[in-house]
Amino acid sequence: MTTPRNGTSHEDVLAQVVDQLCAASAEPNRAGGRLVLPSRDVVLQCVEGLRQALFPGYFGATDLHDKSLHYYVGAILDRVFHQLGEQVARAVAFVDGHDVATCDHCRQRADQATVTLLAELPELRRASRLGAATFAAFSAFWTTLAFHLATPRFGLGSGAAGLFGLIGASGALAAPVVGRLADRRGARWASGVALGLALLAFAVLAVGGGWLLGLVAGVLLLDVGAQANQVANLARVHALRPEARSRLNTVYMVTYFGGGAIGTWAGAHAWASWGWTGVWATGGVFVVLGLLSWALEPRR
Ligand SMILES: [Zn+2]
Repeated sequence: MTTPRNGTSHEDVLAQVVDQLCAASAEPNRAGGRLVLPSRDVVLQCVEGLRQALFPGYFGATDLHDKSLHYYVGAILDRVFHQLGEQVARAVAFVDGHDVATCDHCRQRADQATVTLLAELPELRRASRLGAATFAAFSAFWTTLAFHLATPRFGLGSGAAGLFGLIGASGALAAPVVGRLADRRGARWASGVALGLALLAFAVLAVGGGWLLGLVAGVLLLDVGAQANQVANLARVHALRPEARSRLNTVYMVTYFGGGAIGTWAGAHAWASWGWTGVWATGGVFVVLGLLSWALEPRR
């Protein structure tokens, strides 16, 4: 009984509480009487390290020279490998009920899992970058479309921008087509087609953006391109490790929406300074950045 009664000292009560708490966590998974669990603080350090390795210069050290970049990223990855490997080994040992200090099997499994994770980083970053570039272009356009439609040339209210949204939504119909294309010709190829469509969209918006028909054509191309880009990139990310979809998605989507935020900001500024020309030029630059990143990918 843990209820304090008159005449029971608080030490007696606490001793019982301690017994019960320890009994609950001690029974399974204890090798050699030790309980070693992954450290949340160290795992957070690893996440921070991975962020710095994925986007050097943007996180962590902000002044990097080409020559020092290799040392910098290498040192981070080496540290993450050892720190994360230790945490994974602890988790494996806990689940299997082994002693992490002495078990070679736990250590080997942990090292293997950690190396596999780190080896996926370049492809994850390639897909994330293409997603961010395309969504930045997409956001630059959609942020400012209502302003453009409200100018005297069109004189249309915000309802018109909503109608354009409906037109754009038909881009979703392209998703299954692109999915099949990615399966047949490879996701990288599909990414290239998507970026090409997005570039064509901004060319159409540049030439025909002063007419409703030009805007409709541009919106259709842009939405099909953005949708295709998303399908192709997610296919690449999921191909890395199907069972880790949600974790890889998180990295991809955070980068993707980061690109969207930059695009929204840049589009609004471009509109304020240069009007419609600024908008299509900004969108076009983002797509060209995506295309450059795509073209520079190593062929495998
Ligand atoms: Zn083991």
